[in-house]
Amino acid sequence: MRDHLIEKVLYSKEEIASMVQRLGQAVSRDYQGKSLVLVSLMKGSVVFTADLMRCITVPCRLECMTVSSYHGAQSSGTVTVLQDISSSLEHTDVLVVEDMVDTGLTLQSICGHLRQKGAANVRSCVLFDKPARRIVPVKADYVGAEVPDAFLVGYGLDYHEYYRNLPYVGILSSAVIDRDCRQNSSQSKE
Ligand code: 5GP
Repeated sequence: MRDHLIEKVLYSKEEIASMVQRLGQAVSRDYQGKSLVLVSLMKGSVVFTADLMRCITVPCRLECMTVSSYHGAQSSGTVTVLQDISSSLEHTDVLVVEDMVDTGLTLQSICGHLRQKGAANVRSCVLFDKPARRIVPVKADYVGAEVPDAFLVGYGLDYHEYYRNLPYVGILSSAVIDRDCRQNSSQSKE
C-alpha cells in the first residue's frame, strides 16, 4: 500500500469508529420493534456495514446487492444492478447501507428498486455525503459526515479496486488520477 499517494487524511480510524457508533445508536433507537433488513451495497460498503451492524442492537437481517456506477474516479451516470437480492422484502423495513452519496443516482435508483420489490419502508444510512456533487435531490436518512468534493479512498472506498483496506479515509492524490487519465487518453489514441 502506497500511503504517500494520500493527499490528506480526512477521518482517522478512531473518528470513523465513533461516527459509526453514533449511526448505530440512532438506527437502534428508531427501529425498535420493526422488521429491519440492512441492504448493503457492495463492494464499497462492506467495511462500513460490518462495523455498523455490530453497533445495531435491534434484531436485523443482512442482504447484499452488487451495483456499479463508478469507473476509477468517474461516475458513469448509469446504475447497474450486477447482483440482486433473492429473498423477499415484503412487509420489511429496509435500510440501505451505502458508503457515499455523491450524485445521488445510486441511492435514488436502488431505493426505487427495493420499493418495487415490496419493502414496506425504505430508508438509507450513508457514511459520507458529498452534497456539492448532487444531480438528483436525494437526502439520506442517516449521515456520518459531509465531505468536500474530492475523491476519497479507504475504509472500503476504492480506486480501481485498491485502497479499500486502509483503516482511515483520505483524499487520493490528484497526481494519481491525472497520471491515469493521461495514460488512458494516450492509449486510446494509439
Ligand atoms: P452516486 O451514484 O451517488 O454518484 O455514487 C455513489 C457511489 O459512487 C458510491 O457508492 C461510491 O462507490 C462511489 N463514489 C462516490 N464518490 C466516491 C469517492 O470519493 N471515492 C470512491 N472511492 N467512491 C466514490
